[in-house]
Amino acid sequence: MTEAGNVIPDKRIPIRGTRSLRWRLQFWHALILAIVVFIFAAAFYRQLRHSTFGEIDSELMSGAHVIEGVLRVLPPEQLNASLQDVPMELPDRLGLPPMGLPRDPRRPGRPMRGQRPLDSAERDRDPLPRLLSPDDASLYFVIFSKDGKVLRDESGEVLVDFEKPRNAIANRRIDERHEVLLRGPGDTVIVVGRDVHHQLDRLTHWLVQLILIGIGVMALGLIGGWWLVGNAIRPIEQISQTAAKISGTNLTERVDTSVMDTELQSLGSILNSMLTRLETAFEQQSQFIADASHELRTPISVLLSHCELALNRQRSAAEYQQTIATCQSAAQRMQTLVESLLTLARAEAGHLRLAREECDLHELAKEGVAFLQPFANEKKIVLVVQGGPALCWIDPGRVSQVITNLIQNAIVYGNQGSDSSTAKGMDAGEVGEEPDPPGSAAKVIVSTEDNGEFAELFVQDFGEGIASESVPKLFDRFYRVDTARARSELRLQTGSGLGLAICKCIVDAHNGHLSVTSKKDHGTTFTVAFPCKESLVAQSTESQYTK
Ligand code: ATP
Ligand code: MG
Repeated sequence: MTEAGNVIPDKRIPIRGTRSLRWRLQFWHALILAIVVFIFAAAFYRQLRHSTFGEIDSELMSGAHVIEGVLRVLPPEQLNASLQDVPMELPDRLGLPPMGLPRDPRRPGRPMRGQRPLDSAERDRDPLPRLLSPDDASLYFVIFSKDGKVLRDESGEVLVDFEKPRNAIANRRIDERHEVLLRGPGDTVIVVGRDVHHQLDRLTHWLVQLILIGIGVMALGLIGGWWLVGNAIRPIEQISQTAAKISGTNLTERVDTSVMDTELQSLGSILNSMLTRLETAFEQQSQFIADASHELRTPISVLLSHCELALNRQRSAAEYQQTIATCQSAAQRMQTLVESLLTLARAEAGHLRLAREECDLHELAKEGVAFLQPFANEKKIVLVVQGGPALCWIDPGRVSQVITNLIQNAIVYGNQGSDSSTAKGMDAGEVGEEPDPPGSAAKVIVSTEDNGEFAELFVQDFGEGIASESVPKLFDRFYRVDTARARSELRLQTGSGLGLAICKCIVDAHNGHLSVTSKKDHGTTFTVAFPCKESLVAQSTESQYTK
């Protein structure tokens, strides 16, 4: 709201920027997506690489075992000399069964079940295929003696380094070659290798493919995420737009929850109910200000008009006296009104100070009756005090104010138009502590009771009662049942409609309970209840008090 009044400028909550919910959601969504895509691509690539080189390894391994098989049949002394002339060949394809065993076409690398190894004569008759098959010219092998001397070199132009494997078998990668090292008989080292640049190219190709697919998935995910987040926060934007339209003069706007998701629907409903409460509070506040101004306007205009009249011309001393008396009564009325407003304001702000002590409600009732007795006599009303002691923990000054207002109301409103023949519902034989004034039958009974948990006080009259539609509004500020009469001069002298509101505030501040029951043409009973025990004072009695 602006200082001048009630207009809120149409400021939208900025949605964009680093602190924006949309950007933050988008960021986390992108991050999670990137991690998932990366993990998936990395796992896929790793598996691909692993299986590719695993295959090559097992192929080279079986090749090495073939050579090893040949070396095993050689006499040990030959393993130190050149093996260049020894017939020694690898199968035409890696992964073939060890030398001398026909391969099983269904299970490459394994000898056929039930077949025996070929003997040497058969081997001679069945020369092994050439070392390097024509379709895989990059395959090679070298046999080193235990001290690194080359015993057999079938590597062509490839330079193969000697290295003693730590274990019986090892593998290594040099540039674009892959090699398997096997410890052969007589501590020889058999190195079988091949060029793997085709496989590396294929892997690089796959890597590029995976990166491109990943980028595509990321792009799609980001676009989808942006759209989803936009949809998700649209209701929030709608709420903020509605909130921006709300001002002190326009509290009728509501958030449209029908198009929202369940989660946001409850937020929208909470906001709407808050707006309804605000609207009611604003209305009440405006009404209160209007009522207060109205109440003050009447005595002020009385005051001004009498002053003007007195100043118009020279007046007699008696006339001046009369004017001053009228002005005094108007000022007194204003003072009462302002004090009442102050009490209400303090009570609402929680600043109503209570000097609690243990008191007997019955005693306070008797004091109240004694105080208003002259007023009751004037109105020809009998005040009766009944019941017994009712101890409670209260501020006697404040509670006396409540009792006085209730008895005063009963005298003023509870017996209007009633006389000895019209007062109903009362027992002529009831015992009162005050004697009936002669010629009057209208009666107000003030009684007290201690029910163990609450000290209660009842103020009962037998007048015309209050219409049921007015009962819930009785404790509203400035509320008077007969508004036509409220505007009249008569009401100007009686009340402003704040008495019961103040009573309610005081009783509430004590954690007590104030209620009313009224029956048309049978009278009204106001009930005040205070917790008897000090321990109950701090607790809310709203739920405990049941009549
Ligand atoms: P104030 O007490 O501020 O001087 P008031 O008496 O008009 O003014 P309340 O005490 O708040 O204000 O009472 C509010 C209205 O409730 C009264 O104007 C009256 O119309 C109605 N009322 C209160 N007590 C009774 C009653 N015992 N019987 C009938 N109507 C009552
Ligand atoms: Mg009153």
